[in-house]
Amino acid sequence: MGPAERVGSARGTGSAAKPKPDSKPDSKPKAEPTPERKTERKAEPTPKPKPKSKAKAKAKPESHLAMVRRARRINRELAELYPYAHPELDFRNAFELLVATVLSAQTTDLRVNQTTPALFAAYPTPEDMAAAVPEEMEEIIRPTGFFRAKTKSLLGLSAALRDDFDGEVPGRLEDLVTLPGVGRKTANVVLGNAFGVPGITVDTHFGRLVRRWKWTEQEDPVKVEAEIAEIFPKSEWTMLSHRVVFHGRRICHARNPACGACPIAPLCPSYGEGETDPEKARKLLKYEMGGRPGQRLSPPPEYPGAPAPALGAG
Ligand code: SF4
Repeated sequence: MGPAERVGSARGTGSAAKPKPDSKPDSKPKAEPTPERKTERKAEPTPKPKPKSKAKAKAKPESHLAMVRRARRINRELAELYPYAHPELDFRNAFELLVATVLSAQTTDLRVNQTTPALFAAYPTPEDMAAAVPEEMEEIIRPTGFFRAKTKSLLGLSAALRDDFDGEVPGRLEDLVTLPGVGRKTANVVLGNAFGVPGITVDTHFGRLVRRWKWTEQEDPVKVEAEIAEIFPKSEWTMLSHRVVFHGRRICHARNPACGACPIAPLCPSYGEGETDPEKARKLLKYEMGGRPGQRLSPPPEYPGAPAPALGAG
């Protein structure tokens, strides 16, 4: 059922019966009804209980199995919608991805991508970064916000890579989360995209969308990750994460989701939470969906949008 069908039209035929023009009034005067008769005439028949409508019958809670089937179908639809889904941070190796992911806290991937070219030019390896002068690094990463705390994390994690992991980014979750500033989310991003280890990345977009789709009611990212992991095979985890985040950034926004332009609408229990007018909804679409540049300065070749502008260029 599409969004237009959900709205439905409820026009009545409205053909009120008219008196016949040739009907004559009774010639014989009628006897006045007795008070008892009046009472009889006024009595309304007891209304029969209406049979339950189909819509009401459908409103019974969705079974777990039905939810899993719907969730997998949404994933398939998203795969068709975003065949080019990818991590939206620019990186050339695991170290750059790790650093970029740490920097992406509380800012956009675009802002990180506009900042990292200068950072990696100055400190291309963990050894170089561990030896950085803090104030100089702070100046470079200032555009990403929280630059003092982030500098501290980057100095700490690059020193740990140099001292504990031979200058290499480890490919195991339990090692990654020991690095300063690296939590489970960052570790999963690095594992999924630099090591090919399946991982579900629960960021703000992912959490919001899976709750809108009623795949889970959990708020805690670790619990969300665990419940979503039960729904999908491991092989889907990394790409599912990208697709869901792509959808959250382009169509299913936090404040005003573009429901009227959303191909997932027929499968979405939260349809109507945002703009349902198709024309108004289309104007809300972002990045390549809205005909604008993406977040990466160096997007993958299959990306249909334009590369993002460098810092200060737009
Ligand atoms: S229909 Fe609306 S709430 Fe549902 S996924 Fe689409 S944009 Fe989000």
